[in-house]
Amino acid sequence: MVQSAVLGFPRIGPNRELKKATEGYWNGKVTVDELQKVAKDIRASNWKLQKAAGVDIIPSNDFSFYDQVLDLSLLFNVIPDRYSKYQLPSLDTYFAMGRGLQRKATETEKTVDVTALEMVKWFDSNYHYVRPTFSHSTTFKLNGQKPVDEFLEAKELGIQTRPVLLGPVSFLYLGKSDKDSLDLNPLSLLDKLLPLYAEILSTLSAAGATDVQLDEPILVLDLPQEVLAAIKKAYSFFGQQTKLPKITLASYFGTVLPNLDTIKGLPVDSLHFDFVRAPEQFEEVISAVGPNQKLSVGIVDGRNIWKNNFAKSSQFVNKAISIFGADRVIVSTSSSLLHTPVDLANEKSLDTELKNYFSFATQKLDEVVTIAKHVSGEDVSAALKSNADAIAARQTSTIINDAKVQDRVASIDSKMSTRAAPFAERLAEQEPIFNLPLFPTTTIGSFPQTKDIRINRNKFNKGTISAEEYEAFINSEIERVIRFQEEIDLDVLVHGEPERNDMVQYFGEQLKGYAFTTNGWVQSYGSRYVRPPIIVGDLSRPKAMSVKESVYAQSITKKHVKGMLTGPITCLRWSFPRDDVDQKTQAYQLALALRDEVNDLEAAGIKIIQVDEPAIREGLPLRAGAERSDYQVWAAEAFRIATSGVTNKTQIHSHFCYSDLDPNHIKALDADVVSIEFSKKDDAGYIAEFRDYPNHIGLGLFDIHSPRVPSKEEFITKIETILKTYPAQKFWVNPDCGLKTRGWEETRQSLTNMVAAAKYFREQY
Ligand code: GLN
Ligand code: ZN
Repeated sequence: MVQSAVLGFPRIGPNRELKKATEGYWNGKVTVDELQKVAKDIRASNWKLQKAAGVDIIPSNDFSFYDQVLDLSLLFNVIPDRYSKYQLPSLDTYFAMGRGLQRKATETEKTVDVTALEMVKWFDSNYHYVRPTFSHSTTFKLNGQKPVDEFLEAKELGIQTRPVLLGPVSFLYLGKSDKDSLDLNPLSLLDKLLPLYAEILSTLSAAGATDVQLDEPILVLDLPQEVLAAIKKAYSFFGQQTKLPKITLASYFGTVLPNLDTIKGLPVDSLHFDFVRAPEQFEEVISAVGPNQKLSVGIVDGRNIWKNNFAKSSQFVNKAISIFGADRVIVSTSSSLLHTPVDLANEKSLDTELKNYFSFATQKLDEVVTIAKHVSGEDVSAALKSNADAIAARQTSTIINDAKVQDRVASIDSKMSTRAAPFAERLAEQEPIFNLPLFPTTTIGSFPQTKDIRINRNKFNKGTISAEEYEAFINSEIERVIRFQEEIDLDVLVHGEPERNDMVQYFGEQLKGYAFTTNGWVQSYGSRYVRPPIIVGDLSRPKAMSVKESVYAQSITKKHVKGMLTGPITCLRWSFPRDDVDQKTQAYQLALALRDEVNDLEAAGIKIIQVDEPAIREGLPLRAGAERSDYQVWAAEAFRIATSGVTNKTQIHSHFCYSDLDPNHIKALDADVVSIEFSKKDDAGYIAEFRDYPNHIGLGLFDIHSPRVPSKEEFITKIETILKTYPAQKFWVNPDCGLKTRGWEETRQSLTNMVAAAKYFREQY
């Protein structure tokens, strides 16, 4: 019999129960016992769900209150002194590391004021993990035994699970050294860490765990020799221990081929690979499976929401069975299902045709089970038939295929992705129109999204206010933002984006080819969940999406107002993409739709248009090579297709944040002005890369994630430092990103100080 396995299940609960409970706990409205109870119920119902679906290998320890990597930092006592010194209860220390903690002293408690640990993107996903942060004073020891507790909790329900832990080398390699220990290489801590892993694993074994899953997702990266050596060392060490459960070594999100020699011969029971993302690795990967090892075939997509193709998957798994025999093959999800929404059954208003093409985490359980049964020779013909029907229907669906869009993409030529003249000529035409001072000041687009805005949006969505009333409300918000910017004397204004719920969803809702869920939440970090829109078909723009608001804003001021759009790559990356068409094609379709919008804005008299691409970095393939260099070309091209339909006189802006973007990638966009998140980077080397780049740049001068107000002097010092490396003539003054999560008061103060600093420099030059 071929077994079925799941690498991890979403832990947010079918109706975001975990978010409500954790946020309630942070606000003091939910007790720790109530919080624990919610968590326990989620775990129990996840296990029961998987059991009922017939999954053979069910994960435990995939639950987390905040992040599974942070769980390990707590478990192994990787807690910087600035947190441990407060001697908070363990769960509070944990949350303090995840999200920071600021608490005034009370009669019984001391003041606490500590910022969060660094949070970074989990590989190329939109999940963020909390970075393990090591220092010379890190003392490894076990803090509790979460994996064991959760294993026992399942066991008590009569459910045998396979606990999952991030493996030791990924844990160290994905971490960093703390500010006080910059000379420390986290990998050098492996010898101290391994005995703790062995201890927790043998405790699991004593508790009855026969198997564990150790994730080493870093195996899909380009790894230096020392990391590969660490992998060898760690798993050889485990191999020498006597009382450990059997280990499944799991990789996902890419191919392991360049690291295959390291994987070969490791003393583990099973090897798991992601054949959804990298099917091409199959032929070579099988050579790494030893005579007594099992192959776990990751074939049900843990990253996307499309129904599995049973015929194709079964054929793939059968290839493995013909080599290893049924007993040595496991049918599995490609990665944890954490990255997919919980249950399609909760979608009440989704088009029924589309619903038939989707599969969320709960449905994916049936998928692994059905494939496993099928390849084991059980009769699942009814399931196969309805699956084949759905797959066939999708291929010819009129919702999905739009010949006009396909033809338009086919006719894209290089002229479409090139501005009419090079930057210098454009600048010469633009300067007399805009007449901007040196150090022009602007913002990135959004202004505080107040409660009032959310209430009115909800009313409009529910139909309790009319479209006219809502428009009047939005216009009054725009007017407020315009007047505010005039008052504090910013140079280039924005309309403030009050009409936008989310920078991708807002446009997705207006494009043909997109679908939306009502409950398709996916954890992004901590208690922040997102509901990615789904690209279901060929994309096009039935009508203008943002012109009305921009035109209104421009009509009430003499200063220039930037039109504001979300770029093609960001729309693509923050959606669930199609799996039947390559991402480049989807990006081009988005680019063409946005090109029409950019052109319409220009025709309506908007002279500066910003197209944001904050997600362009996260789309970068994980490994160096052809796929990555191709991406760099087509991602930039998509942006240029969207923005090159305008005359030289129209000034194109773009914006980047969230990550270190390769300067060459920015330059390839040829935007007239780009604003880059910079306040936390402070890296002169990075600025220097732009010294000879003619187009203009705004380096973000303050962190919009924090309510802190920088003083005028602080801005001056920052700008002075930048000007040591970067020419004043090309320098714009702006914040790091949009201000939508900020309050009005701090926004007013910060921007006022920023403008004052710009004026100070104008007098110097
Ligand atoms: N224009 C958007 C805003 O200001 C940009 C957001 C982003 O880069 N994440 O909100
Ligand atoms: Zn941003």
